[in-house]
Amino acid sequence: RNRAERLNRQSQPQHRQAARFEDLPEYKRVETQRMAVAMLGVGNPFYRSHDGAAGATTRIGGREFINFASYDYLATNTDPQVATSAKQAIDRFGISASASRLVAGERPGHVELEQRLSRLYGVDAAVCFVSGYLTNVATIGCLMGPQDLVIHDEFIHNSALAGIKLSGAVRRLFKHNDVENLEGILKTLSSDFRRILVIVEGVYSMDGDVADLPALLELKARYGFWLMVDEAHALGVLGKTGRGTFEHFGLDPRDVDIWMGTLSKTTSSCGGYIAGSSALADILKAEAGGFVYSVGLSPVLAAAAIASLDILQAEPERTERLRRNGHLFLECAKAAGLDTGLSVGYSVVPVIVGDSLRAAQLSNDLLAEGINVLPIIHPAVPEGMARLRFFITCNHTEEQIRCAVALTARKLKDLQDRNFGLASLDM
Ligand code: PMP
Repeated sequence: RNRAERLNRQSQPQHRQAARFEDLPEYKRVETQRMAVAMLGVGNPFYRSHDGAAGATTRIGGREFINFASYDYLATNTDPQVATSAKQAIDRFGISASASRLVAGERPGHVELEQRLSRLYGVDAAVCFVSGYLTNVATIGCLMGPQDLVIHDEFIHNSALAGIKLSGAVRRLFKHNDVENLEGILKTLSSDFRRILVIVEGVYSMDGDVADLPALLELKARYGFWLMVDEAHALGVLGKTGRGTFEHFGLDPRDVDIWMGTLSKTTSSCGGYIAGSSALADILKAEAGGFVYSVGLSPVLAAAAIASLDILQAEPERTERLRRNGHLFLECAKAAGLDTGLSVGYSVVPVIVGDSLRAAQLSNDLLAEGINVLPIIHPAVPEGMARLRFFITCNHTEEQIRCAVALTARKLKDLQDRNFGLASLDM
């Protein structure tokens, strides 16, 4: 009888309804956050519309703000030289590369930019992708597979995590910047896998501290893994001439297997890159889906990135000014009793405030005082570690920095005095 029922059921037409997006737990989370923000009268600090280019200052709703929410570290975004190069590229090549470089062919800017990047890193080759995020996804997804192991710092960027997921590799994380913890993992696991990749960031995007590259290279020499360093927040920032983490530590860049970076920050463009050996670049150009099956970098954005690199190399004083500003911000913030976490005061200085709503409220209170700085809330950072994240640029003035720190300390104290916070609604 059971068999007859089963057969009967199988022959029935299926009436299965697709899930409604409104019923997904993801949507419920969005709604809860919205309600919490509305209940507490905290305006949404995200997706604010800016009236013009945003650098050390910005205009929102017709009002001028001191801005700490732009990655324009070396203030190249509004540089006339960069704008002229981009405009010339539009006149010559149009806006778009229009298809994959495999199909639509190269533009001179692609080749020049990749040569410039490989020279900057002192390696054989580089390859550019249309976004920094895609660079991590496509590269890790291409190089690693289910027989492989990826070990990463617990604080690496979401794009690297997405790449690992795509690859199907086994994933382990080590405690932030804790090379001993990494070695412990390597000791127990290293013989079981075809390849091992270790991923770190040069300057960590949420915390503003620096990877212990010398110790990582020492470990690499003993355990034979590939080392990938994401330089998104280190290019133009670390090292006397802004070449990044290897210059900061005085190391040979060739000892790192995979340098990754984005074109959207110091180089005021859009896109990402991998720099390393010629074989690595050849593999990615032939096999990485995000390169082969996606449009080539816009010639306009390639030209803008090249012009920004010109400035980076011709004017190392911008990097010096950025460093002075970062250190000043950190020093003032510490003196004011703010919790700057692990930051060592280069491009990123967080002010950790605890729960997410307090961070959102503080961001709004500072906006009212003429400071634009965004909160970073769970799940981007662990629960209870919500923060305001200040991006420093070389164009901030000493007065702007001192004023921002003083206001942050005052407004945070006001919130603490009012015991503002609703940890149960942590976002
Ligand atoms: N890596 C890190 C460390 C980042 O912080 C970011 C973006 N903030 C990316 C990669 C992705 O770069 P993009 O925004 O240029 O796509």
